[in-house]
Amino acid sequence: MMNQKGGVGKTTTTVNLAAAIAMQGRSVLLVDLDPQAHATLHLGVDPGGGGGGGGVERSVYDLLHDPALAFAHTNEQPAPGVMSVRANLSLVPAVTDLAAAESELAGAPDRQTRLPRAIEALRAHFEFVLIDCPPSLGLLTLNALAAAKEVVVPMQAHFLALQGVGKLLETVRLVGQGVNPALRVSGLVLCMHEETTRHAREVVADMERFFLDAAGQDVPWRGARVYRPPVRRNIKLAECPSFGQTIFEYARWCPGALDYEALGRAFVQEWDESLARRAQTDARPADARVVTRPAKPAPAKASA
Ligand code: ADP
Ligand code: MG
Repeated sequence: MMNQKGGVGKTTTTVNLAAAIAMQGRSVLLVDLDPQAHATLHLGVDPGGGGGGGGVERSVYDLLHDPALAFAHTNEQPAPGVMSVRANLSLVPAVTDLAAAESELAGAPDRQTRLPRAIEALRAHFEFVLIDCPPSLGLLTLNALAAAKEVVVPMQAHFLALQGVGKLLETVRLVGQGVNPALRVSGLVLCMHEETTRHAREVVADMERFFLDAAGQDVPWRGARVYRPPVRRNIKLAECPSFGQTIFEYARWCPGALDYEALGRAFVQEWDESLARRAQTDARPADARVVTRPAKPAPAKASA
């Protein structure tokens, strides 16, 4: 979940989408890559840094320093820096020290492949890995872009927010050319949405036209879309982090919970469909072999 702008709904979306997917019985790993540790707090985990001790012992900071730690992960015994926080939901928490990681990593030759290596080791244990990015385009975000298969952009349907998306897409394209050629932008999640305003409707229409125009181009946002449903502005979503609860724990039937639940279903369905497509493609060479077998008796016999 990436957007270099702060306050657009990245953390709210990462946490509640992760919870919605986990609720469907799919295993999810949430990686909190923001030194503000908002996703960690949202899930009721103390990131420490308050000066009073306490807080998590191991975090994404440790995995960035030593990605090999992740190879120790099993479902029974999580790797250092990974914790099980809910049914089907694990967390790699952030700590405020994470801000230091950016400068500590700056001189390392493999500075952009630390997170990808850790996630590569964890990937086998989870069906979905969601990364909550910080609101900047620094080394942490670059690690996220190097590790990810898809970029999801939480944003508001405002004209100025739209301007920022152009810059963001360009960053994704550059990173793609550099370290992660398979990276693609899968779409936008509309947060704090006010469907009834004409302005919001116009911005959404603009964005859809933009993606439609990109359909034939060789860009990472070819095929991207505006996810449905949009997440309505709902005060419950702003309240639940202070209780360390997801929206489903805090107010199960509020509009925010219903929107994230539906969005979670859309993501899972899309993933299942992509798996089915892949299975079909994988099956094709075998089918092709069947087709090449002579369907009729051999010509030699026929002429005899
Ligand atoms: P980011 O991670 O991009 O900085 P957040 O997810 O923290 O953004 O959201 C910014 C603020 O807006 C937070 O206080 C959050 O609780 C609130 N918020 C996010 N989505 C909604 C929504 N749909 N309705 C109401 N408040 C929201
Ligand atoms: Mg955030």
